[in-house]
Amino acid sequence: MIDTNHKNNNQQTISNSISIKGIGLHTGNLVELTLEPAAVDNGIKFIRVDKKNDNVIEAIWSNVSETVLSTTISNSYGVKISTIEHLMSALSGLHIDNLNIYINANEVPIMDGSSKPFVEMIEEIGIKKQSKKRKLLNVKKSIEVSENNTSVKIVPNNQFSIDFEIDFPSKIVSKQSCQLQLINGNYKTDIAAARTFGFEKDVKYLRSNGLALGGSLDNAVVVGENEILNKDGLRYTDEFVRHKILDSIGDLYLAGSPIIGYFYGNKSGHYLNNQLLRKLFSDETNYEYIN
Ligand SMILES: [Zn+2]
Repeated sequence: MIDTNHKNNNQQTISNSISIKGIGLHTGNLVELTLEPAAVDNGIKFIRVDKKNDNVIEAIWSNVSETVLSTTISNSYGVKISTIEHLMSALSGLHIDNLNIYINANEVPIMDGSSKPFVEMIEEIGIKKQSKKRKLLNVKKSIEVSENNTSVKIVPNNQFSIDFEIDFPSKIVSKQSCQLQLINGNYKTDIAAARTFGFEKDVKYLRSNGLALGGSLDNAVVVGENEILNKDGLRYTDEFVRHKILDSIGDLYLAGSPIIGYFYGNKSGHYLNNQLLRKLFSDETNYEYIN
């Protein structure tokens, strides 16, 4: 994502190291995550401190190895890190280009199910402007991928904007759509607090398959047949579609650069987001880099 109103589009990192602890959604284990500043052109890297060797995983589209329920990246040695999308979304929303993320498990902690805790920790420690311009990925041709009535596309546009539609067979969620231009820091107010969600009827199935073991009403909106089970209700009236936008922003940041283009998602998820990037990068005439 790019704030095209920024006159000084320099690369950014954080001012100092900061750590956070939380539960992994799928494993239920306690995880410690430390963000450390990184040099210009470093990009975003995950470092598994529970592994001695071959433990660096670059946060880039070509390293995406699994997209069921969350986005997982792996390096060439098969070392993995899962559920990176909410943290990646926060980094995109705050324009963090360079960062080393040290983690002692194979999963980013779920925190409250949104990217707000990551946004707050970064704002607490501060953002540091660096001495080199950001490299921006300008989309030159329209790219679309689809599967089973779901689709994503990206088309040339003079700034990053995002449009998403969902349609669930649930009277609580049903149809929602949301369109946003992410400028002037509105990621923080309009997207960051939107939590992941799940349906009560699916929770049992996930648990019996060893998934969502750390999931609870503290880190997800749980939708029953007739009501939201969370005591305090929703944070936005259209929180579900806003979370899908949050996820897409995180997945698209695996392009390795902020994208300039218009993104449209229709009932899509992590799989199609990654397929879209793979198709975009399959032909060098689809895009160009600009400063
Ligand atoms: Zn999510």
